[in-house]
Amino acid sequence: EKYDKGLAKSRQTFGQRLNALFANFRSVDEEFFDNLEEALIGADVGYEMAVKISDELRDEVKLRNAKSQQEVTQTIIEKLVDIYEAEGADEKNSLNFAEKGPTVILFVGVNGVGKTTTVGKLAHQYQQEGKKVVLAAADTFRAGAIEQLEVWGKRADVPVVTGKAKSDPAAVVYDAVQKVKQEQDDVLLVDTAGRLQNKVNLMNELEKIKRVIHREIPEAPHEVLLVLDATTGQNALIQAKQFKETTDVTGIVLTKLDGTAKGGIVLAIRSELKVPVKLVGLGEQIDDLQAFDPNEFVYGLFK
Ligand code: GDP
Repeated sequence: EKYDKGLAKSRQTFGQRLNALFANFRSVDEEFFDNLEEALIGADVGYEMAVKISDELRDEVKLRNAKSQQEVTQTIIEKLVDIYEAEGADEKNSLNFAEKGPTVILFVGVNGVGKTTTVGKLAHQYQQEGKKVVLAAADTFRAGAIEQLEVWGKRADVPVVTGKAKSDPAAVVYDAVQKVKQEQDDVLLVDTAGRLQNKVNLMNELEKIKRVIHREIPEAPHEVLLVLDATTGQNALIQAKQFKETTDVTGIVLTKLDGTAKGGIVLAIRSELKVPVKLVGLGEQIDDLQAFDPNEFVYGLFK
């Protein structure tokens, strides 16, 4: 249901283009596939992906002997889900949790993509499930970042470990890890800095944070989630590649899908990064975060 609302824009554009395709639909001919390719590129699935999808569709439509609009639409939907899943058949979309002891999840990504908001939303979800959650404000650099996380801590009713402005973020994380170990908490969510102007510096900082966590809890961090803003389209892909070069990213959080007509970026990210999308942000409110489900997502686009 959340997908319904959140994907309204993507659906409008993508759906409208498809409807236009079908408006003077006579048969699934070459022109149809050309137009479909254009609609896919418009939805930001990326050029190669668009060509791949329409090529595979061509075969599938022939194979199934799909003729009516309904049959063709159904084929498109199933093919999109297939392609998404085939890109990472052995990966799971759900978050990795510790079997015993605290789970540590690190959030990385450039400023403004929605990191802090996502941490707040997830904290709320886990808190509602009865888990003991702690947040760590490891962005000690950007003015206001600590306070912003504290606001989310209040909203979600979970404690936030902070340090002084400009203090060593790894020290804040160390304190937070000690706290969750002592209190036997369930989840530690770490919000990190996102200043990409000084890339080397930032990557070193993230490495240090990871080392501190790993030293205290050997199997942690259990997830390193890269947060990307869907409205930035192909730019999100470029950012992702930069992060992936230096940090082991285990999953993607794609935010602001409610604010874009480019929901197709999900497919591009999947195929180009080989990292699963695990969560999607569909609004600014505390419960506007969803586990990513490729099936629901693609159906949501076509409703
Ligand atoms: P950070 O710098 O990466 O920590 O980004 P913030 O969490 O401060 O978010 C930046 C802006 O994006 C804020 O105005 C958020 O309300 C907004 N935002 C975050 N996630 C979403 C989302 O899923 N949908 C929409 N529409 N806005 C979002």
